[in-house]
Amino acid sequence: MSLTDGRWTGPILDNHFHLDKEGRYLDAALDFQRAGGTDLILVHKPDFDNLPTDEAGIKAAYSNTLEMAAAVRKQTDLSVRVVLGPHPAAWAHQIGPLGLEAANDLHLGAVQLALDHCAEGEAVGVGEIGRPHWEVGDEMMAQADALLEEMLSMCAQAEVPAQLHLDANGEQTYSEISLICDRARLPREMAIHHHAQADVSSDFTHGLTPSVIVGKGSIRDIAQSLWGNEGGFLMETDYMDDMKRPGAVLGPKTVPKRTQALVPALLGLGIDVESVLETVHRELPNLLYGE
Ligand SMILES: [Zn+2]
Repeated sequence: MSLTDGRWTGPILDNHFHLDKEGRYLDAALDFQRAGGTDLILVHKPDFDNLPTDEAGIKAAYSNTLEMAAAVRKQTDLSVRVVLGPHPAAWAHQIGPLGLEAANDLHLGAVQLALDHCAEGEAVGVGEIGRPHWEVGDEMMAQADALLEEMLSMCAQAEVPAQLHLDANGEQTYSEISLICDRARLPREMAIHHHAQADVSSDFTHGLTPSVIVGKGSIRDIAQSLWGNEGGFLMETDYMDDMKRPGAVLGPKTVPKRTQALVPALLGLGIDVESVLETVHRELPNLLYGE
């Protein structure tokens, strides 16, 4: 039993967490642990001031993330699984200087390198990849979608899940991306929508896996939509570990805090809390990423 006096004592996983050696770094991971966190999905954070322009640069950037994961494992009791990939904003920034074709090639090369790390057992997913979250016009969005389809085909062939950074147009975004998954032959649940809204009903998500950004109000919305959820959902902070923007995003203790807040909310609705939290924090992550 992982529920004692209305508190969840089982695993607690943050599905989208960044670290930065120039940021709070190990302190941030320790904060998560002290709040009750047990598992991190550490997602590669691009350095937009210094984006890699060749394979050697991408390799060095990924190594840096893998090094941080190793350091956290050593300095804490946390389980850390790594997700590597090129950010869609990097692609958008590089079209200007490099041209579309070279930017595409660089991007796909970065996905292949991430998949190589997955094959080696050093990473468990590709991300965050996706498409621009800001208004870019129809032509560029079509190019982004074509590139995304190619990346998701690569993930499908490697049987590796993808964490997706997307525009926030709710059900319309989910609907469009679900069709791209189908064309790429990637099972929809292996497309994990990072920074997702708290509506977890499958009508809304079209079978993609929502990784809910657990801001204020998210608990109420999860509880209200959970009855329509089929495959489960994940919780995340998108913690940025950026000293220049403290407080701009959710802090490292937020997933543990919201997990505890979810307990009375679900008990009040007569929902089997243990089964839900087992899925969120253990079963679904293990199914997607491996243990
Ligand atoms: Zn992120």
